[in-house]
Amino acid sequence: MSRWSAPVSLLAVGIWAWLAGTATTWLIAGLGLAIAVNLVALAGRGRRWRHPWPDLAARLRRQAEDPLAELEAQPADEGVDTAEVELLQAVYSLQQACRARVSALVVQKARLEEILQALGDGVLVTDPGGQVVFGNAALTRMSGVHPPLEGRLPVEVARHREVDQAIEQCHQTQQSAVLEIVRRGPPEAFFEVHVAPIRPGGEALGTVTVFHDTTRVRQLERVRRDFVANVSHELRTPLTAIRGYAETLAEGALNDPVAGPRFVQVIVNHAERLQRLLDDILDLSRLEADGFDVQLAACRLGDLLEAAMATVTPAAAQKGLQLTVESDGEQRVTCDARLIGQALTNLLDNAVKYTPAGGRVTLRTHRQTAADTSGQRVVVEVSDTGIGIPSADLHRVFERFYRVDKGRSRAMGGTGLGLAIVRHIVEAHGQRVWATSSLGEGSVFSFTLAAA
Ligand code: ADP
Repeated sequence: MSRWSAPVSLLAVGIWAWLAGTATTWLIAGLGLAIAVNLVALAGRGRRWRHPWPDLAARLRRQAEDPLAELEAQPADEGVDTAEVELLQAVYSLQQACRARVSALVVQKARLEEILQALGDGVLVTDPGGQVVFGNAALTRMSGVHPPLEGRLPVEVARHREVDQAIEQCHQTQQSAVLEIVRRGPPEAFFEVHVAPIRPGGEALGTVTVFHDTTRVRQLERVRRDFVANVSHELRTPLTAIRGYAETLAEGALNDPVAGPRFVQVIVNHAERLQRLLDDILDLSRLEADGFDVQLAACRLGDLLEAAMATVTPAAAQKGLQLTVESDGEQRVTCDARLIGQALTNLLDNAVKYTPAGGRVTLRTHRQTAADTSGQRVVVEVSDTGIGIPSADLHRVFERFYRVDKGRSRAMGGTGLGLAIVRHIVEAHGQRVWATSSLGEGSVFSFTLAAA
């Protein structure tokens, strides 16, 4: 029976009584109509009361599907009981709170993911089933595996048996582990790997593995070790010679009018070489020391070039080399004059050393407008018509103790540190140094300076 049948029947009774026309029936008619009107009102209200529930259920279903969807308008309270309004508004507040909480969680998750993506260390996260559920950008770079990494197995990403075993072990024992691994090259790379369980509140949720690249540190260690080995070797050679010749002199050669002075000269030469080597090592260590500062000042380019030229003029003259300067000497540059003078002298010294008799050494400068915002620069070039450098060696000549021909360098009194010092000095000025060369035809060493 519908909720309308009672009022409709009463209305019918009222109309019949009205038509019957007696006082009693009029009374019955009045009562019937009054009850009918009230029931109609009740039935109508019942309609309004029932109406929001299917709508609300749909709203809640929509929110369950998408907790961040915009909420529909707050339920209107027009013609609705206070209790109903309160209930609907409580549900609406719950929806709002739920939406705010979910959006806060979404922001927090996005922030965490940004942080993990920005890390320089590789991060790999596995779920309790041992599958990768997250890998950051650094890990993608380090592993060389194409994204997405999610859904793969750790061994496919880390591609290292020991790491795979450590993750597996961590899943089983819930214990952390640290290991060092080497990825065979090229290029060879070293990593320190930390594996740890994820278990907030004691519940095992998987593992997190962090890959810290230690290649640079290892390389520096290797450079230091090589440096010590090189220095020892370089010191030992002249020391052994000095000792050998001194002993020979002591054993009687001192009285030999021919061998005596010759051996003494050899000892002097080796002592000078030792002195140069120690000076270069000290210069290098000063340049590399923390807090080393260049003393910048504006100076006349011509003064720098003339002072450097003067140091090599006797050696060039002895070899019959032609020394030329092509420069606007009045140009002013900003630099540490003492250091740039040393760099220029080293380059000119090499040009004279490695250019056979009759050759030419030219010191040239020209202005250059930098493409960036660093302003005007002056390029200083030291060119020679000497033996040249094979292209395979060219990029290494600025390394400490690197020589194309060890025997020739030593015979010329070289230490193997001259160009390393030049590079340090130029880079300490925030400038650039480079070399070009043609084997058998000559070399050009260039560096930039800031125009004052
Ligand atoms: P060295 O004391 O041996 O000259 P440097 O560091 O000054 O050491 O130079 C490194 C190497 O670069 C040299 O041993 C030499 O082989 C090469 N080199 C440097 N300058 C020249 C040049 N002007 N012409 C040819 N080779 C050069």
